[in-house]
Amino acid sequence: MLRLFFFTLVGLMTLEGLANGENDPKKQPRQGVRRIVIDAGHGGSDPGARGRYSTEKDICLAISLRLEQMLKQEMPDVDIYMTRKTDIFDPVTVKARMANEAKGDLFVSIHVNSAEGIRHRELSHYETRTVRNSKGKKITKKVPVYRTWTSPNPAKGTETFIWGNNKNEEKLGAMQENENLYLDSVSARELADFDPYDPVKFQLYSLKSKQYFERSALLAMTVEEEFQKFGRISRKAQQRQKGIWVLHAVAMPAVLIETGFISNPEEEDYLNSEQGQIEICTAIVRALKRYKFSLENKSSNSQSSISPAKGGQR
Ligand SMILES: [Zn+2]
Repeated sequence: MLRLFFFTLVGLMTLEGLANGENDPKKQPRQGVRRIVIDAGHGGSDPGARGRYSTEKDICLAISLRLEQMLKQEMPDVDIYMTRKTDIFDPVTVKARMANEAKGDLFVSIHVNSAEGIRHRELSHYETRTVRNSKGKKITKKVPVYRTWTSPNPAKGTETFIWGNNKNEEKLGAMQENENLYLDSVSARELADFDPYDPVKFQLYSLKSKQYFERSALLAMTVEEEFQKFGRISRKAQQRQKGIWVLHAVAMPAVLIETGFISNPEEEDYLNSEQGQIEICTAIVRALKRYKFSLENKSSNSQSSISPAKGGQR
């Protein structure tokens, strides 16, 4: 009992150091950004949102491939892992597993937003129709005829999602299943005898989960800042209370970037254009560089002040 208590204390101290990561430079197993997982949303049989002439899956892939090239040039010391490089479909469960097996330090999912068209209704003309009145008698009556049509939703701009912090328990679950990702081998061995629901482990997972949440929030806000520098309208970094499964299924900080609205004709053109894609990738690369720099040069204590999203679009 005493031994266990002692071991628990030592374990806790080790884990605190691990989770904070600053104390001992040799014990910084996954402090920096060594491998970034880029996830092009949708693919194959899953087209995602549709515009007038293009689909979300194709835009996501084009942007992701360009992002891969740019990152290789701009951040040569970072590995890039792509969840897809062609037009294929994998369920998000498979994508999350790929990201975890690739031992990424960061998960960046690229998507395109869509807002439902706006329905309009307008009086067109009157028609004379024969109807029955309440007593069953046939009468002729003038009835209004309406014209209905849909116009594109003017919603536009970018938004970057992180998992809702009410989803931290799922994040804990993802981390418990992938503990080797962020436990150095010594701690892993020490903890091997403990069951996953042991308070010591729980402590580590909670610390890590909180840290991942803060890092994801930091990156999401930085991405949106960089988009704004290109004159994009930012719908801000947001938590999705409904949850985005893949964001809490990966055992690493994770963001989902909605790069623009395919439902807005102007933005659909922008998303498909070379200039648009270059701007989007440049903004993301700059944000990733700032994120990496802030992790590696000082311990970031940025508090997340991210508003809960109203939800709705993917
Ligand atoms: Zn999507």
